[in-house]
Amino acid sequence: MTDPLFAPVELTPPDIAPYRRGNTGIDHVTSLSATEPGPHLVLNALVHGNELCGAIALDALLRMGLRPTRGRLTFVFANTAAYATFDRQNPYASRYLDEDFNRLWSSEQLDGRRDSVELRRARVLRPVYESADLLLDLHSMTADTAPLTLCGQTTRGRDLALGLGYPAWVVADGGHAGGKRLIDYGSFAEPEGSRTAILVECGQHWRTETATVALESCLRLLLGLEMVEVPATGPRLRPRTDPQRVVEVTDAITASSERFRFTAPFLGMEVIGRAGTVIGWDDDRAIVTPHDDCVLIMPARRVKSGQTAVRLGRIVG
Ligand SMILES: [Zn+2]
Repeated sequence: MTDPLFAPVELTPPDIAPYRRGNTGIDHVTSLSATEPGPHLVLNALVHGNELCGAIALDALLRMGLRPTRGRLTFVFANTAAYATFDRQNPYASRYLDEDFNRLWSSEQLDGRRDSVELRRARVLRPVYESADLLLDLHSMTADTAPLTLCGQTTRGRDLALGLGYPAWVVADGGHAGGKRLIDYGSFAEPEGSRTAILVECGQHWRTETATVALESCLRLLLGLEMVEVPATGPRLRPRTDPQRVVEVTDAITASSERFRFTAPFLGMEVIGRAGTVIGWDDDRAIVTPHDDCVLIMPARRVKSGQTAVRLGRIVG
């Protein structure tokens, strides 16, 4: 198996300078409104500065000249400061500059007194996200895992992911102890309400296929919402192949030593048949699956003490 930390960078980071001025008064935010009423959909790229797929998808949609036939469509390139430092010789380094942009999404953080490059950008983008009815947040992964949608814990998030019919894996989860993600921000995550946010992990960071998944996810959502008509010359949706499966996260395994290791080079979305199977060691403590047909969700490649090593889930539908 190729270690994904050394996987070749197949994708080319697009030049997003043409989108800097945008049309909203906020750098790298472009918003297009139709006269017909409809939802406000935000397509969001570069929450992590080294995750190229979303930037490529948004660049493709903007260059197509796509306009909404109803509602409002907004394109956001989020952590552009980190993206500007992208170096294909050291492609992991540009995930963020000061801190993870995707752990800042609570009013305590946003209204707090702390300062960082990412907090400044989050505060600028906050009203854009707060005005969204729907948010599609485009990400990619270190490991060569199959694409998956993180739909949070609301029924409407799950329904939206299933309504798209793609990607095949849908993971219902509650986020991270280290801070709230954008899809968990405010009323996106409240059990009642209509505002809905999902995150698509489109595949391995550097693969050509990952950008295709990102564009396809955007198009399926836009077409599903009947917000666009894709020109005949535009990209075509590929036929769906796998049926969707929903996984509910049951456990998060946090490393308590610097000597955490898995028993095999898991990529994620493996289904371990028998409860009690040892999947890793945390120093000399065995990590075992708590139930039959346990799904390993996004195992970390390098685990430090106090960090989430892997999350475990159960297939529910
Ligand atoms: Zn990401």
